[in-house]
Amino acid sequence: MEEKVSVIGGGTAGLVTARRLAKLGINTVVYDQKKVLGEPVRASGILSVKGLERIGISYGSAVTNTLHGARIHANGRTMNIYSKPAVAHVLDRKHLNDICHDEAVAEGADVLLGKRVTGRELDGFSSEGVVVGADGAVSEVARHYKIGSIKNYLLTYKAEYNIGHDDHRVVDVFFDSGVAKGLFGWICPNSKDILEVGIGIDSSSGNALASFNRFTSRKEISDMVGNAKKISEGASIIPVSLRRHIVEVKSRVLLVGDAAGQVKPSTGGGIIYGSLAGILAANTIKNYFEHGGDLYEYERTYRRTFMLDMWMHAMVKSFYSGIGNRGMGLTLKILEGLGFGRFLGRYGDMDMPSEMARNLLGLRSRNLKVSLG
Ligand SMILES: Cc1cc2nc3c(=O)[nH]c(=O)nc-3n(C[C@H](O)[C@H](O)[C@H](O)COP(=O)(O)OP(=O)(O)OC[C@H]3O[C@@H](n4cnc5c(N)ncnc54)[C@H](O)[C@@H]3O)c2cc1C
Repeated sequence: MEEKVSVIGGGTAGLVTARRLAKLGINTVVYDQKKVLGEPVRASGILSVKGLERIGISYGSAVTNTLHGARIHANGRTMNIYSKPAVAHVLDRKHLNDICHDEAVAEGADVLLGKRVTGRELDGFSSEGVVVGADGAVSEVARHYKIGSIKNYLLTYKAEYNIGHDDHRVVDVFFDSGVAKGLFGWICPNSKDILEVGIGIDSSSGNALASFNRFTSRKEISDMVGNAKKISEGASIIPVSLRRHIVEVKSRVLLVGDAAGQVKPSTGGGIIYGSLAGILAANTIKNYFEHGGDLYEYERTYRRTFMLDMWMHAMVKSFYSGIGNRGMGLTLKILEGLGFGRFLGRYGDMDMPSEMARNLLGLRSRNLKVSLG
């Protein structure tokens, strides 16, 4: 068998996987059905500074704003989280995709655009080598190889407005179970003069556009964007639970990114987890080709490395989804009283809450960047 990997999907997860595979000297071809990668942009681009360092993309030119904290709102209360050092960057998603593409190609990967891969072609690719399914939330690869289903999805709707924010260094997060059941509404200054307003709801909770309309008709939101020019809008979905399996050993198929459900359930952020998983998948594939290692090792390593954090994110989501508006308002009051906003500002880790706990307990960081190679 050839040492060849076919990566289906040229989103961030597929391209970061391809970059790593090519760097390891493996013949890698990425296929994407789109003629222009990264379009249309349906998602936001809030990525933690720590997470970006962990995946090692040269993202600098895609930064459109830098965030130092958040204002969390519930039931008329607000908790402020603020950090002097930058916590997160807002990235232009199309530009980020282009950077990932260029880095993968620079390492030697081939990227074929305008090519929708079918089930029959997948069987051909898998007989020639290894297949990585990085084909997003509604994965054809996972469906074709029957690699379990994703149980929980969020529905989203977001729009961008041509207007500034009162404080472009913070993102506003609104918990309101009557409007955004299962996630929250957000207002993010994408840049100094572009504001993004969005909403996420559990897929069982109705219609995202109707929720978005209810959210934007709230006084504090309509005061902000009511007269502003809307420059884009759209709906999407986010998978928020891991598939039962993310490897099909017999056919040599591995899933990464949204295709696998590698998304933080508490926020819907998937770029960091999907990319880190892609690096793990590539390392496992290298070991498979070179030493006959077990491809299932990818799934084992992923679970060992990330399941505690994924579980913590899932606990946070189930807490705020179940507690109701009064309970959430009271929680903010208690947390604010305990100085939790300041604590989060200092020690918070948007992606790896277990790292925050290690910090609190005085334990050494796991230094993920080094362990992911
Ligand atoms: C509203 C919203 C806001 C978000 N905000 C954030 C955020 O702030 N931070 C964050 O980290 N994450 C965020 N996310 C999640 C993030 O966008 C996803 O986790 C991430 O884009 C997943 O990347 P991916 O490469 O796995 O999949 P995708 O980006 O979906 O890429 C999959 C690719 O596969 C291609 N494809 C599919 N089927 C085939 C086929 N059969 N043949 C060939 N090509 C195929 C598609 O064309 C696509 O290019 C948000 C998502 C949404 C919807």
